[in-house]
Amino acid sequence: MDHFLYRDGALFAEDVPVAEIAAQVGTPFYLYSTATLTRHFRLFDEALHGMPHMVCYAMKAASNQAILKTLADCGAGMDVVSGGEYARAIAAGVPGDKIVFSGVGKTEEEMRTALTHGIRQFNLESEPEMERLNRVAISMGVVAPVTVRVNPDVDAKTHAKIATGKSENKFGIPIARAREVYARIAQMKGLKAVGIDVHIGSQLVDLEPYRLAFQKVGELTDALRADGHDIQRLDLGGGLGIPYTRGNEAPPLPMDYGNLIRETLGDKGCEIEIEPGRLVAGNAGIMVSQVVYVKSGEGRDFLILDGAMNDLIRPAMYDAHHDIVPVVEPAAGVEYQPYDIVGPVCESGDTFAKQRMMPPLAEGDLVAFRSAGAYGAVMASEYNSRPLIPEVLVNGDQFAVIRARPTFDEMINRDTLPEWL
Ligand SMILES: *Cc1c(COP(=O)(O)O)cnc(C)c1O
Repeated sequence: MDHFLYRDGALFAEDVPVAEIAAQVGTPFYLYSTATLTRHFRLFDEALHGMPHMVCYAMKAASNQAILKTLADCGAGMDVVSGGEYARAIAAGVPGDKIVFSGVGKTEEEMRTALTHGIRQFNLESEPEMERLNRVAISMGVVAPVTVRVNPDVDAKTHAKIATGKSENKFGIPIARAREVYARIAQMKGLKAVGIDVHIGSQLVDLEPYRLAFQKVGELTDALRADGHDIQRLDLGGGLGIPYTRGNEAPPLPMDYGNLIRETLGDKGCEIEIEPGRLVAGNAGIMVSQVVYVKSGEGRDFLILDGAMNDLIRPAMYDAHHDIVPVVEPAAGVEYQPYDIVGPVCESGDTFAKQRMMPPLAEGDLVAFRSAGAYGAVMASEYNSRPLIPEVLVNGDQFAVIRARPTFDEMINRDTLPEWL
């Protein structure tokens, strides 16, 4: 169900007109729907019904405290990939035993923090990391619960920058070496293996790569148990894709994904963990921007927006498509025309869409980038000294700024001058 719909010709976010928020907050800004966030979380929860499970939201997709708290209140655990994310999860009230720690470069400091405040498990990505965590845990007199992230050498058939399950990717330990690694862990006093972890990539629009990976995890579960290891949990990562083009794409639903898990791994008697990020937050957010100029070029018209690649980098970084819709509904029968839709940043990469068919737009008009809730605000920067744009959360007929736009002074005053200047 879409919570960003036109009503009487105006785009609404749940029960609030988007233009009203724009008037109050200024553009550009990110806008999230509570109803979509909670619905998407529950879809995963329901997809795994009948199996012991925990849905750990991959918070790198969108990590504002208000989003985390909204999901934590629904019972979500968290998948974190840095000390900063761990601190955010704790600050949002998520207990340590619902936080899993992923990532290829965990530092000693991050390990200590998580072991001090509580952790469900570390997903180990390499043997040097395993050695270090063992040392840290022993020095603290604790035992760290771990899984090994295995790299199943499966082609996720997604964009190269977000494929993680092929042997040439930096992630995980080759599945062929897993038995040897678990045997070493069994001898380490600071580690206790509790399960297996896998995550093959992001924006997967086909279940087959998952099937291949899950089958391999199932075989490994049996082999490790035969070796005497107590495999209680299977962390299957995230990565389920979302429709970025309304009406044209139908990626598998969480229910199909859940059924595949039940079919391939349901008989293992394991607790299932999943780490969805994009599907929870992606279509729960839009970025609202204003047309600054309409510029006629050589054979093409440019819509120059006040939002730019520093605010939403996905088109520049992943060649990603975002539907862009006017905040005032186009009149029936109006003729669409092609525009190049760009931001003001000083590089040609700052192009959101080329020759996109849009209704005629003019200076001052508002547009909304759909599907911008995941890997949007979290990847923003202040390139060109454009302050990070605000985030707003809608809940029914209420809305609140959940991160304010910094003033220029606040941005400048984060820098400090050395005494010789
Ligand atoms: C990024 C990531 C996820 C989430 O991926 P989505 O495509 O956003 O669902 C889950 N687990 C790990 C280890 C990740 O790196």
